[in-house]
Amino acid sequence: MKIWVGIDDTDSREGMCTTYLATIAMERIEERGDRIVGLPRLVRLNPTVPFKTRGNGAVSFLVETNDVSEVLEIVREVIEELAMLKDANTHPGAVFVSEDLAIKLSYFADKAMKDLVTIDEALFIIGKYFIPHLKFKKGRGLIGALAAIGAELNDFVLELLTYRYPERFGTQRICNLEDFFEVDYVFYPKIFDTVDWCNNVVVALPGTPCPVLYGLRGENLESLYEAMKMIRSEPIDKFRVFITNHGTDMHIIDEKDVKELKNYRSYRLTGVVATEPYDIIGGHVFFEIETRFGLVKCAAFEPTKQLRNVIRKLKRGDLLEVYGSMKKDTLNLEKLNIVKLAEIKLEYNPKCPKCGKRMESAGRGQGYRCRSCKTKSFEKEILNVKRDIEEGFYEVPPSARRHLTKPLVRLDTTTKKHIFR
Ligand code: ATP
Repeated sequence: MKIWVGIDDTDSREGMCTTYLATIAMERIEERGDRIVGLPRLVRLNPTVPFKTRGNGAVSFLVETNDVSEVLEIVREVIEELAMLKDANTHPGAVFVSEDLAIKLSYFADKAMKDLVTIDEALFIIGKYFIPHLKFKKGRGLIGALAAIGAELNDFVLELLTYRYPERFGTQRICNLEDFFEVDYVFYPKIFDTVDWCNNVVVALPGTPCPVLYGLRGENLESLYEAMKMIRSEPIDKFRVFITNHGTDMHIIDEKDVKELKNYRSYRLTGVVATEPYDIIGGHVFFEIETRFGLVKCAAFEPTKQLRNVIRKLKRGDLLEVYGSMKKDTLNLEKLNIVKLAEIKLEYNPKCPKCGKRMESAGRGQGYRCRSCKTKSFEKEILNVKRDIEEGFYEVPPSARRHLTKPLVRLDTTTKKHIFR
C-alpha cells in the first residue's frame, strides 16, 4: 500500500530544517526496504502566520510499504533525535495518510495556505478519518503535516536542497559566491531567484544555522543538477529535490472571493491611488489606495529596495492592481501592476504669440497680457505632465521575495513586465 507521510514544525531559529529531518526519515525508511515514490513535497503555507520560524514550510512524501506502523516508528525516532524539541516554539506533528484519502485534505490545505487554522481543526480531521499521527508538545505541526499532503500543486517548481555535514551545522558556509551568479547567467529563467544582481546578494544561501547549504529553484530537473555541478563549495553531505509551491502565488486571495480584508492574509486588490507615497525614517514608503473595501494602506518596506523608486512616482488617480500580505492593517507589497497612469495636467499662464514669453495676469477677470507686446489672452495653457514611470507589472527584487510569491518571470501575462532580477 501507499501512504503519505506529512511532517512539520521540527525546527527553530537555532537550527534544523524539516526538509532535512524528512530526508533522514526517507533514507531510513528506504534502508529498511520500503520505497519512496516520486519526489517529496515542500509546501509553503500562509506566510503571515505568527507561529512560523522562517518560511512556514511543511514536508510530505509518499511511501510504498506493507507496514505503516514501522514507518511511523522511524519518523518518531527521527523527530525525537533531530527536532528542536527543547525550543519553546517547536511543536512537531506528523501524519500518515492513505493515498486515497489525500484528496480529502485539499480544502484544509488551501485554507492553511491562505488563512489561519487551529490545531483543533487539524485534530478534527485526524479524528474524522482515524489518521495515524505523532503529536509532540502542542502538536501544532499537525496543521502543516496535513496541509503538505493535501495541497494540490496545480502549479509547482522544483527545489534542489543541498545539505551540509552535521559537524558543520551552525558554522559559516563555504561557497564560491561567484558561481551562483554564473548559474543565474547560464540557466535563468529555467533556474530563478538564485541571486539578486542589483543588490549583490546570493539568495540561494540561507542566513540561518540550518543544515541547508544552498537551494536552487527551477522548472527543470536536469538544469538543477547541471547547476549544482557548477557550484564550488564545502563538501555536500546529501541533496534532495522537492516539488514545491514556491513561486506560485498560492497564498494570494483574490478580492472577488472575499467580503472583507483581514490581517494575516494575502490579497490581490485593485484600487486607485488616493494618498500619494511618503517616506518614513528607515526608508519605508507608504501610500493609500481606494478599493471596494475602502481605503487600504500599502507599504514598500526598506528591503523591497528598488521597488520603492517605482512606488515613489505614483500619483493620485493611478489605477493599480496590488499583491501582498495584510499585517497591522497594511498591505505589504510583493508586486503591483500599474494598470493605468493618471493624466496629470498643469495650468500655466499663456505664452505671448509675439515674443514667446509667459504673459502676466491683467487683473481679476481680465485675462492675461504681455506688458511689452501689448497682446492679450483669456485662455490658460494646460499641459500634460510627462510621467516618468511606465504602466505594467513591477515586483520586489529576489532578495526580498517570499518563497510563495510568483516572480514576474513566471507570470503568464501579455502586460508589460518590469522584472527585477
Ligand atoms: P521553515 O523553517 O521550514 O521555512 P517554519 O519553520 O517557518 O518553516 P514551522 O516551524 O513549521 O515553520 O512553524 C509553522 C507552524 O505554523 C507549524 O506548526 C504549522 O503547522 C503552523 N501553521 C502552518 N500554517 C498555518 C496556518 N495557516 N494557520 C495556523 N497555523 C499554521
